[in-house]
Amino acid sequence: MPDRKPIPCGAPRTTPPRAPARPAGRKRGHRQSASADRPEGVGAWPKRRVLLLNTTFEPLTALPVRRAIVLIVCGKAEVVHGDSAGSTLHSATHSIEIPSVIRLSRFVHVPYRGRVPLSRSALMLRDNHRCVYCGVRAETIDHVVPRSRGGSHSWENCVACCTRCNHRKADRTLRELGWRLPETPRAPRGRHWRLLAGATDPDPLWLPYLGEVSSH
Ligand SMILES: [Zn+2]
Repeated sequence: MPDRKPIPCGAPRTTPPRAPARPAGRKRGHRQSASADRPEGVGAWPKRRVLLLNTTFEPLTALPVRRAIVLIVCGKAEVVHGDSAGSTLHSATHSIEIPSVIRLSRFVHVPYRGRVPLSRSALMLRDNHRCVYCGVRAETIDHVVPRSRGGSHSWENCVACCTRCNHRKADRTLRELGWRLPETPRAPRGRHWRLLAGATDPDPLWLPYLGEVSSH
């Protein structure tokens, strides 16, 4: 019987099998050839990612579309939301709705993995895409203590900022300018931040499952 790990479990069954079953004892998740991964006729997979939820609806990670469809086809996950654009993949005999959010059929325990890496997209989400100084839409990242003054590139020293404030601030400190931060910047907590750190443009359908996003 299939193992309990969620990914991967083999090729999507969108075309009739044309090769014998995989060899016994094959290592899970390794040595998958392109032909095994990609059913004929499907062509290029969309580059978007799919949000994978645990059975508890806790966000786990963002998967490539291909891997998400493998989980669905293998019965290891179910579609929670289809792609907001209603996209489908077509093979010779089947069409498959592209998912945006899927949920595992069995609970998986994922150990906490420490500090979330700093990325532009995750920082913008932490600060709600708003300039921390004036509140307009942020377009850039400001180092609160300028890097030229020894400031670090870290969650604690980076904030979302508009171009205007960034230019006004230049290489000065807040004390020199008489500016204040509405709150002390800090690294976001929660496992789902890890996936957001690598997602440049998360589907709005994901947001209800990323409930801690706007809490600092
Ligand atoms: Zn501003």
